Amino acid sequence: MATSTNKRDYYEVLGVSKTASADEIKKAYRKLALKYHPDRNKGNKEAEEHFKEAAEAYAILSDAQKRAQYDQFGHSLGGAGFQGFEGFEGAFQGFGDIFGDLFEDFFGGRTSRRGAGRGGLRGADLEYSVELSLEEVVRGREVTIEFQRAENCDTCHGSGAEPGSQKTTCPECGGEGEIRISQGFFTMRRTCPRCQGEGKQITKPCRECYGSGRVRKMRKLSVKIPAGIDDGSQLKVSGEGEAGERGGARGNLYVYVSVKPHPVFERSGRDLFLEARIGIHQAALGTQIEVPTLDGKVRLKIPPGTQSGKVFRIKGKGVPDLRGYGMGDELVRVNVEIPERLSPEEKKLLEEFGKLRDGTGQEKSFFSRWRG
Ligand SMILES: [Zn+2]
Ligand SMILES: [Zn+2]
Repeated sequence: MATSTNKRDYYEVLGVSKTASADEIKKAYRKLALKYHPDRNKGNKEAEEHFKEAAEAYAILSDAQKRAQYDQFGHSLGGAGFQGFEGFEGAFQGFGDIFGDLFEDFFGGRTSRRGAGRGGLRGADLEYSVELSLEEVVRGREVTIEFQRAENCDTCHGSGAEPGSQKTTCPECGGEGEIRISQGFFTMRRTCPRCQGEGKQITKPCRECYGSGRVRKMRKLSVKIPAGIDDGSQLKVSGEGEAGERGGARGNLYVYVSVKPHPVFERSGRDLFLEARIGIHQAALGTQIEVPTLDGKVRLKIPPGTQSGKVFRIKGKGVPDLRGYGMGDELVRVNVEIPERLSPEEKKLLEEFGKLRDGTGQEKSFFSRWRG
């Protein structure tokens, strides 16, 4: 239990607030898992630690009951309650089974039970992250992405066996393709490590791929990101994931798009929001102000008598509709600033102004409404 006090807060690990929704937690975790996944960080100890830390935080915070317990007691009680993770390191290989539902979305068909031994195994899905600026969202962008993916070995056509050699039944799993393992409070069904789920064993491994049937190759392709895309969208590029095994179909590639926050504009769907400040004299007398849009400055007319909080709409200066239904607008909210300090001369003028306005003030009007 002493060691548990050194642990980082689970919310901090995932970079979410204490009130984050289940969806936000999943999204945050997914980002980290992709970033630190061992497949992408071969031999990087630090990444592996981050990966495990995130997985642990996710396992707790994604479970409503465990999350409530954690919120109340933190890691202190957790030391006992979350002991299952002592076995996590050992269970690391079984990761895909524990978090299968989540991972099938994007790493997809790990070499697990699905279809093993029969008909072939669909290739894993891959995910790639792209970050766009708001300006790029408006124009749309073509990105060139480059990644490694598994392909079938040309020499053995993915079988892993030296051409012409025979295969025998796997002695580890007796041809079942999977084994059961108990670890902490998890019982996992795990793909047989000896035959990788095939149930058969190679007697003479292929010289080209050392029996794996797979080789990793670089793939480069260009993906068009449509204008108007939302932050957090996923584009599916069919058939660009990893090669299937034993005749299975290729997986898909998912391009995950995030949009950088803009220093000035806030986006809401197709519209952009902006706050502008004007002085009390400008609000009362009317004026023209210069406001930025994503394609240059425009002049905005402020009519006399404009109230603080009034929103002006600049047509067609927002974000294009993703399905091509025109453009959104830019909405400018005007805040009227009351000066915090006045020079003696300004003060004098305002007092004179006040005298001229006497008799029209609020005080008189609401007493007249209230007491008759
Ligand atoms: Zn081969
Ligand atoms: Zn086996």
